[in-house]
Amino acid sequence: MKVTDSIQYIKGVGPKKKAELNRLGIVTVYDLLTYFPRTYEDQSVLTRISDLRAGEQQTISGIITKLQERQGGRRGMTILTALISDGSGFLQVTWFNQNYLKKQLQVGRRIFVTGRASYAFGGRGQFAMSQLSSFQILTEEEDAAAQCGIQPVYPATERLNQKFFRKLLKEALAADVELPEVLPVAVCRQYHLMARREALATIHFPKDFTALKAARRRLAFEELYLIQCGLILLKQKLQQSAKGIRHGADGVLLQRVEKSLPFALTHDQDGAWQDIRQDMERDLPMRRLVQGDVGSGKTVIAMLALVKTVENGCQGAMMAPTEILAEQHYESFCRQLQPFGIRISFLSGRLTKKQREAVYQEILRHETDIVIGTHALIQEEVHFHRLGLVVTDEQHRFGVAQRTALEKKGDCVPDVLVMTATPIPRTMTLTVYGDLDVSLIRELPPGRKPIRTFVRRPDRRPLIYRYVHSQLEEGRQAYVVCPLIEMDEESKLPSAEEIYDELRYGIFQDMPCGLVHGRMRPADKEAVMEAFYQGDIKLLVSTTVIEVGVNVPNASIMVVEHADRFGLSQLHQLRGRIGRGSYASYCILVSEGKTQQARERLNIMEKTADGFQLAEEDLRLRGPGQFFGSMQHGLPDLKIADVLKDSDILIEARKAALESLRRQEDLAFVLPILELQYQEQFRHITES
Ligand code: ADP
Ligand code: MG
Repeated sequence: MKVTDSIQYIKGVGPKKKAELNRLGIVTVYDLLTYFPRTYEDQSVLTRISDLRAGEQQTISGIITKLQERQGGRRGMTILTALISDGSGFLQVTWFNQNYLKKQLQVGRRIFVTGRASYAFGGRGQFAMSQLSSFQILTEEEDAAAQCGIQPVYPATERLNQKFFRKLLKEALAADVELPEVLPVAVCRQYHLMARREALATIHFPKDFTALKAARRRLAFEELYLIQCGLILLKQKLQQSAKGIRHGADGVLLQRVEKSLPFALTHDQDGAWQDIRQDMERDLPMRRLVQGDVGSGKTVIAMLALVKTVENGCQGAMMAPTEILAEQHYESFCRQLQPFGIRISFLSGRLTKKQREAVYQEILRHETDIVIGTHALIQEEVHFHRLGLVVTDEQHRFGVAQRTALEKKGDCVPDVLVMTATPIPRTMTLTVYGDLDVSLIRELPPGRKPIRTFVRRPDRRPLIYRYVHSQLEEGRQAYVVCPLIEMDEESKLPSAEEIYDELRYGIFQDMPCGLVHGRMRPADKEAVMEAFYQGDIKLLVSTTVIEVGVNVPNASIMVVEHADRFGLSQLHQLRGRIGRGSYASYCILVSEGKTQQARERLNIMEKTADGFQLAEEDLRLRGPGQFFGSMQHGLPDLKIADVLKDSDILIEARKAALESLRRQEDLAFVLPILELQYQEQFRHITES
């Protein structure tokens, strides 16, 4: 059997089960083998019933001595109760509405039960368990075999239970599946990695915890190693496939532009700029990420780099993730650069077909020097005359694939500068941006007033908004951010639209208010943003569309409704919209704070303004799944590795990838595997 064969060839999988498994994304034998256990139960450590402790997760094994069935509850639930004895005492176990168990539950059968014990009331036995985390009723033969030990626990569904998965994986592992090694021999040997077949068998049915750990390490290593290989090859491919552009040393134009800046660069800005300038003056194409918190001044760095490419007779492109942001960059670049005769164009999906075609012509004929736009820049029709530098702003909104598409727009490989405000922890940078060199901007420009942040309950809203009103009277502007656009029946949360109405017909009836959200027509959205930018709108109610980049220095106050709905990093990005001028700024997070965790989480916002620290907290509290999810990084999902906990393995895997790609035989070995497993993400490596 091949790993790519359908699961239907495995014993025990009929059409019904197949459909169920498919729903979980398990289509091939390989999908099944990599359906890794969520956790394990150590049934080798059984608790005697007489030793059970209330409130703790424990596993017992015993014989069913008595069974009872009754109807109960308002809707007439079926309640099955079994009394279980292990010789030391009795445990009462209850199942609700699980009629199908009636056949299996027989007096005299052995059962393993894992769950949280509580004190029983009524009935016999001191302890009871109802919401079991798992149980396994053994057949007579199974009991005879008395198999126990460490048992895998799978992400199960209503119709596919633990017992089914355990049996199915035993079948799959016993079937004669071809399982070719995917790591080069040298790597396995050097890093003492378990063989693949053994690792897959062990991860499902470990004989002890030492073996389990070794198997996990091997599989996580494999995953991270292959992704690192993909990223490194992507970088090499782009650097080698064509010659890069060798930019000359800074000339007069750049010096004049630098001198015209209204401020001096901060130390970190200067550091990033030096890195970029050196990269640009090399033969190899630049592949650099500038990571800097919101407001740290990344735009000016991008501008200088673009001027440098223009000075060298090339064109530059800058891609922003939203219309508004692209527009804003366009305006500020025009203001700064047109006095020096630099020609700037704007390209977005919002332009009419005719306007767009005119811009395509300008680009092709080199009648423009810098093009700023949205992803309209990566359309087929866009051809540059001589593209020297590509900047993508707020890269986490673009996948690797989109980024690469723009890089392929010229004859020579252009230099690439990626800017992000998503402060991801150091080791994670390697996973997400393993194909880029990194410059960090840690400090903010001088003279920033710190933003003061407060968490408040909804019953304080009248007070909060009265305060906002007084700030508007003093000439400031304010943002009100809401998680939802329209009324949502389910969550019962008031929407942006409702809050907008509440405010503009209520306390802010004497103030010009505006509403902006992602579902408005781009032109309408633009008009509202423009009015806010010009100060014609004082209070702007919005969804997270304002998250990225918008710069209105006069806005000094922000209220976030239902703040618990947002991640910390996202709140931090939102908060970055204020505190951009010389006024004291305030961010008020409105939240019920129903749970301890929700309160703790938001309180961190009051205490720290460090985006990196917040990102780490976010990761710790929400887990990498959600954190990564919101980043749309375009990399494969990690099935087993954990970017936070496995940073040691990640560092080893990256080292291994760098070393082994230098060996011809390893490279030849890895390429087809990447193509097979990650063709979607890394197709640019193999494409010519
Ligand atoms: P971000 O890194 O979030 O993109 P911006 O580039 O939009 O930040 O910069 C935020 C603000 O800081 C802008 O108004 C910009 O003019 C200003 N700024 C940037 N660098 C400096 C500096 N070195 N000194 C003072 N102000 C600066
Ligand atoms: Mg920016």
